[in-house]
Amino acid sequence: MALDRQVFQNTPDRDYSLLDHQQVMKQALQSVREQFGGFYPLIIDGREVSTERELKSTNPARPSEVVGRTASATRTEAEMAITAAKRALPAWRDVPPGKRADIFVKAGEIAERERDELAAWMVYEVGKNWKEADADICEAIDFFRYYAQEMIRLGTPIRLGSTAGETNYYFYEPKGVAVVIPPWNFPMAICAGMAVAAMVAGNAVVLKPASQSPVIAAKLVEICRRAGVPDGVINYLPGPGSEIGDFIVEHPDVYMIAFTGSREIGCRINKLAADVHPSQDHLKKVICEMGGKNAIIVDTDADIDEAVQGSIVSAFGYQGQKCSASSRIIALEPVYDEFLSRLVEAAEKSTIGMPENLENFMGPVIDAGAMKSILNYIEIGKSEGRLALQRDVSDLVERTGGYFIGPTIFADVPPSAKIAQEEIFGPVVAVMKAKDLDDALEIALGTDYALTGGFFSNSRERIERVMREFRVGNLYINRKITGAMVARQPFGGFKMSGIGSKAGGPDYLLQFMDPRVVTENTMRRGFAPVEEQPEQERTAPLA
Ligand code: NAP
Repeated sequence: MALDRQVFQNTPDRDYSLLDHQQVMKQALQSVREQFGGFYPLIIDGREVSTERELKSTNPARPSEVVGRTASATRTEAEMAITAAKRALPAWRDVPPGKRADIFVKAGEIAERERDELAAWMVYEVGKNWKEADADICEAIDFFRYYAQEMIRLGTPIRLGSTAGETNYYFYEPKGVAVVIPPWNFPMAICAGMAVAAMVAGNAVVLKPASQSPVIAAKLVEICRRAGVPDGVINYLPGPGSEIGDFIVEHPDVYMIAFTGSREIGCRINKLAADVHPSQDHLKKVICEMGGKNAIIVDTDADIDEAVQGSIVSAFGYQGQKCSASSRIIALEPVYDEFLSRLVEAAEKSTIGMPENLENFMGPVIDAGAMKSILNYIEIGKSEGRLALQRDVSDLVERTGGYFIGPTIFADVPPSAKIAQEEIFGPVVAVMKAKDLDDALEIALGTDYALTGGFFSNSRERIERVMREFRVGNLYINRKITGAMVARQPFGGFKMSGIGSKAGGPDYLLQFMDPRVVTENTMRRGFAPVEEQPEQERTAPLA
């Protein structure tokens, strides 16, 4: 499969202002609804495995609806999955990188053909609106194609040095068995991103999906297998993280853990993975992407229309359940009152309801636990700041039983407040007043996190200063701070937001491999030169 190495084209979104795009999505939603309640077994070594217990995945907008049921692994099945991955590893590692890449290009093609139905599963399983669900699928397709392209680049051994009588080859090898642990909030994109990166690099994967989104993960595994991923290279292992998480992280046969999720679990995985267990002959690599407490700064000369629009999408898109979401907005004193009143006005008008209906911008939060925690933060906020808006959605909650929370805005929040420091992961935003840009930057940087940030301004000089000093993983100027695109805005943070290299960027795959160098003394050996192999056939040094 020929891929253009220079230019990566992102998958275009559906345009739901077009009637035919609306029509296909309506049909997909109908078709998925007819498949509700289906059962998805574990997949270990290519075989379906059922378990005594099941996970039930329900629609957060109407929790009485069971979207699907999956098997639920215990440590016994987790051990089987790791053994299967270990067994599959040597053959998969030796498949030439170009051939592995071909499989994931094909998987991307399958996902693209079935994108509407995949998006529809997401609308029901995690409560994304059409646009957000479609964007999640597009991002997953991009990951398939981008990491395939990257593997072709990195799979070509590099010849080093120019000393006569010596050859040096620098090349990469997969690490081994990789455990992939995604969150539920980008149930296809992040799940696919981490799993595909691991596999295309030659690792064998045990995928433990988030318990709120195991059906979409089952669809991903199905697509990979249909595209030609061999038995044992991807093992599907849904099960409660609290029961099997430590076991798979600590297992001596696991070489690396790719995790995206909360700070609490990320820190735990780092700690547990650092221990060396009996029979373990290696140190583990942990890729760990965690939360954020992201701020937008609104400058004195900002275009307020643009700032309000960007803030609404960043704070309340997917109900604020994005690691990149803005949960703090810092407006400079001269524009504070105007910005705040316009923000409140816009949030009052945003549509909220069933995500399966196109007109709704906001839907439910993921589950009862999340709802309780967010409502608790709202109560705390009432004593820390001034409640400027809490949209009443009690009717909707009563009618559907869904986990709906209206957009909530606190004003005059002190920077040290709990709601200004802790990740809430819901539609709650703290608005703060800054004296000047120095003050705004100090507030913006004054948390443990460094994931995303935004700046609305019309001053070139101040924009340049902010570009230098607003030290976060992904900074956006005069636009929303969510929706990073693969290859265009490689994504990820530092401090307590993560330790990995950016997903969708040129360094990402390197984390899944070890570099090797082979040096050969070629003086007076009398060997006939080896024919150059085509690039995609090479697995090892060319010597
Ligand atoms: P979470 O509660 O940390 O769960 C993430 C994953 O970890 C789930 O698959 C979960 O399984 C599993 N898990 C739970 N306990 C475990 C253990 N002891 N060992 C190993 N795995 C365990 O996070 P979440 O609620 O799904 O996701 C929201 C968080 O993710 C937010 O903090 C958000 O900011 C962050 N996030 C970050 C990024 C980024 O790129 N930086 C992107 C998206 C989300 P169960 O579901 O079975 O418990």
